[in-house]
Amino acid sequence: MEIHQNTGGLAATNAYLIADEKSGQAVIIDAPQNTILPLIKLAQHKGWDIPFLLLTHGHWDHISDHKVYTDHYPHGKVLIHQLDEAKLQNPGSRIFQLPYQIAPRSADAYLRDGDVIEVGALNLKAMFTPGHSPGHLAFYMAHEKTLLAGDLLFAGSIGRTDLPDADPQAMQQSLAKAMALPDETSVRPGHGPATDIGTERRSNPFLS
Ligand SMILES: [Zn+2]
Ligand SMILES: [Zn+2]
Repeated sequence: MEIHQNTGGLAATNAYLIADEKSGQAVIIDAPQNTILPLIKLAQHKGWDIPFLLLTHGHWDHISDHKVYTDHYPHGKVLIHQLDEAKLQNPGSRIFQLPYQIAPRSADAYLRDGDVIEVGALNLKAMFTPGHSPGHLAFYMAHEKTLLAGDLLFAGSIGRTDLPDADPQAMQQSLAKAMALPDETSVRPGHGPATDIGTERRSNPFLS
């Protein structure tokens, strides 16, 4: 497996390109503004196909570049949980006016808890982890011991639950799901640096 990260946009949001280099299959997780083109160029250089863009949730900072993906992969599928599709269909911030426009679109298909996305030999399992957003998903790769955490869990912090459709109680249950994973699980969050479950279990002040 190869993981490449690119960070961009007003909220310094992380996008990930994950590839099974043997089969030449890859996937992009989240589409922050001005992050996707360099990842696509890298994939093209390596000869990888990218059949899917997976969205952890519908917040503007995670979906801004979705059209850059579909412009390059017209048959590529953009997948999200049904409960966050409305944010993709009516993109933007509920809190402030974005200085740019995001094209609205619908999902090509919905992801549900437990769905497995096959990318060559890699399996990404969708984990329904609502709280920060009603349809938030994390993606777990058990064999690679890696969690793509979106805005569920950060190094030393957790996703906001003071947003209009956030649910702090659901967030606690979702965090418990993540913390049930093995200590050695690498965490690749939607914002900030990578961490691992063991480090967060020991030192994250929001997990007590
Ligand atoms: Zn978010
Ligand atoms: Zn975010």
